[in-house]
Amino acid sequence: MAVLVTGGAGYIGSHMVWALCDAGEEVVVIDRLSTGFRWAVAPEARFYEGDIADRELLQRIFAENRIDAIIHFAGSIIVPESVADPLSYYENNTAKSRALIAAAVEAKVPHFVFSSTAAVYGTPDTADPVEETAPLRPESPYGASKLMTEIMLRDTALAHDFTYTALRYFNVAGADPRGRTGQSTKGATHLIKVAAEAVLGKRQGMDVFGTDYPTPDGTCIRDYIHVSDLANAHLKALERMRAGGGSIVANCGYGRGFSVLEVLNRVKEVAGVDFPVRISGRRPGDAVSIVANPAVAMQELNWQPKHDDLAFIVRTALDWEDHLARRNQI
Ligand code: UDP
Repeated sequence: MAVLVTGGAGYIGSHMVWALCDAGEEVVVIDRLSTGFRWAVAPEARFYEGDIADRELLQRIFAENRIDAIIHFAGSIIVPESVADPLSYYENNTAKSRALIAAAVEAKVPHFVFSSTAAVYGTPDTADPVEETAPLRPESPYGASKLMTEIMLRDTALAHDFTYTALRYFNVAGADPRGRTGQSTKGATHLIKVAAEAVLGKRQGMDVFGTDYPTPDGTCIRDYIHVSDLANAHLKALERMRAGGGSIVANCGYGRGFSVLEVLNRVKEVAGVDFPVRISGRRPGDAVSIVANPAVAMQELNWQPKHDDLAFIVRTALDWEDHLARRNQI
């Protein structure tokens, strides 16, 4: 059987494709290459360029491959962009996911893994690591667009022979430790990626968005997880559903948070390079602090993090940024 990865040319998707190939799986990718890159897809994978809402293309993919699982990454992921243009987020993330789920049900694909997000929680009531049962109060259209997809999956699983795992990602960062792929998105906005670009001199310093939050140093706190650990959680989810496990929602994070300033200091330390940091105003849609309780992933998915080390996450991100810089010089 084969696994269909949507958004397999993107940042997390391309790591997933490598992880599946490494595990001996047959992999099929669909990606419209709006932000991803064809070269980021492992050569062993079968590639289809196109949109996940293209019903005819999906029917062709299901006819040409024996797919028993879909891992769905394709979507838009930038919180402030979603605040500025909410309807494109409801289109890309919610409406297109609906089309994909409908095609999966029609083709009788039994298993589905969904890239959800900690943004479904908004700001938790306490500073404790958040559990999956916490109230769902997204503070951005991005979070809401993902939560709506979770709801569609829940209801679809009740009505059809269909099992899903929704993985709520915390802050994904770093790159393949073997250097085969990494975050290559142009105009990236995520903290560690932006800092890595500042280290390499690809940008003149960077901004810290808000230093007046109710946290020890006034900057927002996030739970940064290495992208390879995250990909591995998907493999575990797949294994569990194929063995008959039911639908489940699980957080993917390490259970500890770092502030923006802590991250930037660690980046400077690991890189051995200083860069200018400007203190700017708050960014719209940012939750104050969000840290995972990963107990469900560890117990139910049997997931064991291997790279729970901020310096390692930063090192792999820097190595990839360096690789991109050299690549562009050729
Ligand atoms: N952030 C920042 N400067 C940047 C990028 C991000 O201060 O150039 C902050 C952002 O405001 C948030 C945290 O870093 O508090 C994590 O943001 P990111 O965009 O990486 O992920 P998000 O949590 O929004 O998914």
